[in-house]
Amino acid sequence: MAYPRSVQGVLARNQAFVEKDRAAAAERPATGRPALGLAVVACMDARLARMLPEALGLDDGDAVFVQVAGASVREPYGEAMRSLLVAVGELGVTDVMVVGHTDCGTCGMRAGHLVEALVAAGCDRARAEAELAREPRAAATLEGFACLEDEVARSVAAVRAHPLMPEAVRVWGFTIDVATGALTPVDC
Ligand SMILES: [Zn+2]
Repeated sequence: MAYPRSVQGVLARNQAFVEKDRAAAAERPATGRPALGLAVVACMDARLARMLPEALGLDDGDAVFVQVAGASVREPYGEAMRSLLVAVGELGVTDVMVVGHTDCGTCGMRAGHLVEALVAAGCDRARAEAELAREPRAAATLEGFACLEDEVARSVAAVRAHPLMPEAVRVWGFTIDVATGALTPVDC
């Protein structure tokens, strides 16, 4: 099957990047161990792709980025927490910043609405309903949050409270303004 235009564009730009940037390859960080001992948990929002590291002044090799919808760390054994445990245990991370953002799509998201959207996008309705009835985690996973600051605080608390997280690891909460890039601390 042919790649869609989006992927074709990526592949073409990638080829140009590799050719243009051959000299830079030798300068790239040799390992994935973050030089600042820092992990940043942020949302997957497309507006943050370049803006977030720029606004935080973080270059390649400086910090670990864990990007999930809503910057939410909810499941003690979900992928976001797993990434943080790896970051601390294997990559020398000592500080974690959870950074929620303004105008987050996960804010106010309702499971019922998301299911309808998935059905509209082509998911079979009967299959979706059967899955929601079968899997107790489904509805909670599809549910967003009401207040950005509260969600950041909840995620910070979840990371701090994890039984496998060393107590010495410091966890901080922030919000970032998607328009200006300004960080605001969240009391956690
Ligand atoms: Zn978001």
